[in-house]
Amino acid sequence: MIKYSSILCILTAVLLTGSLIGQDNRKMVFPDIEGYVTLKTDFHIHTVFSDGSVWPDIRIDEAVRDGLDAISLTEHIEYLPHEEDIPHPDRNRSYLIAKELAKPHDLIIVHGTEITRDLPPGHANALFIQDANKIKLADPIEAYRAARKQGAFIFWNHPNWINQKEDGHVELTSMHRQLIQEDLLHGIEVVNDLTYSDDAFEVALKEGLTVMGTSDIHGLVDWQYRLSSGGHRPISLVFAKERSVDGIKEALFAGRTVTWFENILAGDESNLQALLDASLMIKEASYIGPSSVAQVILQNQSHASYILKNTSQYDFQSSADIIEIGPHESVKILVMTNKQEASFDMTFEVLNAMIGRRRHATLSLSVEVDN
Ligand SMILES: [Zn+2]
Ligand SMILES: [Zn+2]
Repeated sequence: MIKYSSILCILTAVLLTGSLIGQDNRKMVFPDIEGYVTLKTDFHIHTVFSDGSVWPDIRIDEAVRDGLDAISLTEHIEYLPHEEDIPHPDRNRSYLIAKELAKPHDLIIVHGTEITRDLPPGHANALFIQDANKIKLADPIEAYRAARKQGAFIFWNHPNWINQKEDGHVELTSMHRQLIQEDLLHGIEVVNDLTYSDDAFEVALKEGLTVMGTSDIHGLVDWQYRLSSGGHRPISLVFAKERSVDGIKEALFAGRTVTWFENILAGDESNLQALLDASLMIKEASYIGPSSVAQVILQNQSHASYILKNTSQYDFQSSADIIEIGPHESVKILVMTNKQEASFDMTFEVLNAMIGRRRHATLSLSVEVDN
């Protein structure tokens, strides 16, 4: 009897630990940056209320499992392939259902919709709207104006989409310039689903548009991003003054975002620098005996992994110039400083942290050596 119960105990413990570890791995964790809370968001999502395959409850569940702070169900206003089976004259239904379903969870639902047009202007998401029905207008510019009248933050979706632009390059047309001038376009997707656009990134930096990264999920997040193999959906990290709809809105208009896609972080230099500074830090440093080789423990407090290229004056004693540090991991680096120093600097190029086309962020860490 005792035997059985102890085996059962051990089994339960193993199962519990296993499931907890699984959950923790999926729930995205990023540190707050100086002065702001870091919110994990996905503002391009579909359900059966446009051309997605699932009911809104699945989107809520996926977002909660991913540890997201905010999502928007951005149904196409003009493209409703399930309309015969799911007629819904009120285009706010998806949002209203999601808002109700999200009540037991700590998840913010932002009211949004996708304005779905040929290029130009292409597709765009309007967030923080009041009534999607009023945005259903024949003229695309008028649709943007109607959204803006409701206070919307509007971003250009998948500007690199090969169905609309065969060469995959982004072209900022005169219509887009007009939209920007009229305060009708505020952001651009650098990341959409499984694609990443250097062009879109350059447009964002040149035109002062907010860098966005979204899943544009139509099927299941688990399958699309191979979560069982360690994948994750693309998200936008939003650096907000407060964790609320208004906080997110202010941050998006102010351009405080970094997108996380596969193993890449992308954002304007100041945003990405703040995230790196909050994510990577020296935990301890000491010399090995009388040697001039310092043992430095570097800790990663974020869910992204980092690929660091040594650009400091010192070589490492136990590795070449590339250091990889996984999510929430610590690595030990042996630095040859030639003589024992009370403090020294380590500098890196962060190869998977993009601040523009083929441009990487840098990281500078000042090391205080323990005695
Ligand atoms: Zn769609
Ligand atoms: Zn679209």
